Amino acid sequence: MAKKAKEANVADNCILIEKELSKLKLWANLVPLQSFRANLRYIFSERVWNTIRSAVYRKDEYKCTICKRDNIPLHAHEDWIYDYEKSLQRLNKIITLCDLCHNNIHLGYSGSVGVESREKNRQHWCKINNQNEDDFKKYIFNIIVLWKLKNKIQWKIVDNNGIEITRIKLGDLLNSLDLVVDSTTEDLMQIHGIGPEGAKKFRECGITSLNQLINHKNLAELADRSKISLSNLKKYRFKAESFVNNEIYQIAPFIFPDERIIYFDIETDINSGKIWLIGLEIDGKYTQFYADTWEQEMEILLKFVEVLKANPKVNLVSFSGTNFDIRVLKSAMERFGMDTNELISHLHIDLCTLIKRSFITPNQSYALKDMGKLFKYPFKHTHLDGFIATLKYLTHIEKGEPLEQEILEYGEDDVKVLPFLIEIIKKGEGIIKKKFSDLAFLDSPIELIGDMNELLVKVRDFYEEHGKLSIREDKRYNSLKSEIRFYEKKLKDLDFIRNAMGKLSFREGSPYQYPSSTRCYVPYYGKDQVIKFIQTIKPRIKNDVSKLTT
Ligand SMILES: [Zn+2]
Repeated sequence: MAKKAKEANVADNCILIEKELSKLKLWANLVPLQSFRANLRYIFSERVWNTIRSAVYRKDEYKCTICKRDNIPLHAHEDWIYDYEKSLQRLNKIITLCDLCHNNIHLGYSGSVGVESREKNRQHWCKINNQNEDDFKKYIFNIIVLWKLKNKIQWKIVDNNGIEITRIKLGDLLNSLDLVVDSTTEDLMQIHGIGPEGAKKFRECGITSLNQLINHKNLAELADRSKISLSNLKKYRFKAESFVNNEIYQIAPFIFPDERIIYFDIETDINSGKIWLIGLEIDGKYTQFYADTWEQEMEILLKFVEVLKANPKVNLVSFSGTNFDIRVLKSAMERFGMDTNELISHLHIDLCTLIKRSFITPNQSYALKDMGKLFKYPFKHTHLDGFIATLKYLTHIEKGEPLEQEILEYGEDDVKVLPFLIEIIKKGEGIIKKKFSDLAFLDSPIELIGDMNELLVKVRDFYEEHGKLSIREDKRYNSLKSEIRFYEKKLKDLDFIRNAMGKLSFREGSPYQYPSSTRCYVPYYGKDQVIKFIQTIKPRIKNDVSKLTT
């Protein structure tokens, strides 16, 4: 009797909280722990999931169903409905979302491609829901409360026709979701970057399948006809081959300093403000600084700084694609009024960004979990992710019970996987296939003296954010115009890069200030300088640089 009453209470509370939350246009109706594996991406293969995804995008007319933005990368999201009284979790529909809405719906832990900064996600949430930052904090609190209540219920997970999701067949699923598969574009749209417009251009040139793209004899001719640039065609073809053959392709040199490295990773609270775990590895030795309570946060930050001081100038390596770890560390230190000079003096490399630049992967994801799996890293706790780890930590704080050991082991794996990845990539054997022979001339090494390597990485980072490389034909003189530019608001802000480029013996052209005076750039002209820049700095090249060889 008492148990029954308690269960009814859970359901009633859930209904109450959900009613309040569902007044928002964009909110995270988190999936209970028990159901994490009922995810369609786990049930079906990558290929089938991609077919479903494309059908969803078409149904939603290639727009985000929440904020209505289009012409942006799209995500497909499973929209579950919870019947708290019957303990039924039902797959209502699959909806198209943009990056920002999708990240919000998973509280920033979607683990898929394009994880934006939390800051950006929060702003988007406020804008869509017409709420402020304080509302956001209350909202996060309610989300977590609801999620914890949901975890107390034993769910039955079904589709709209009552079939259990883990046993469902694709046909039944499509039927229950009212989805129709269109085979003339959807095969191609399995490739990231090929949207409906792109698929249409391909179709007009008679290409409707990945295999037709892979086997096409003359890409230059196809570029002419399809109005898709040759460099994009090459990229799509690599992606298609990688996807179909389930192989990893290296498309550019992987430059990684051959020096001592501090690999590290942090775990934070939901808002990515406070840090409770810093894991690091130097010379093959793993250490972790753990704050058992929030009062110990400053202590672990200080311990980390001690490590930095004991290892001056040793490069830091983390994995996020957004410099997440280093940014959060810096702002946490600032919150305690700590000196951040030591932290800044270490060069930081975001391994995710480096890998993205050089590799194409069959699953087209650069999340750490996916990369680790691809390279066969033996993760100890595959059922955990950053989100669950954080929630378990918050529960530990709230209830005062000790944190489960597996959470700390999970944190350890997130660090140890980094040197593991680098070792495999450096060896470059087996699973990785080199695909950049036509750009081989860009790979010829140039002698570097002393700590030049550090400078190169800094220049490359600056280029990634502020630089542009252009190569165009000047029809009048039948010549090639090539240049590199760095943009900033004020000329003063370009001091660093002008100095650095000078040290590397590049000759700058005249800096240009736009009349609006909100933007300026400094150019470096000429084919020789552009080739030298590519050879020494190894930037991510988005242009077709094959013209430089002629
Ligand atoms: Zn959206």
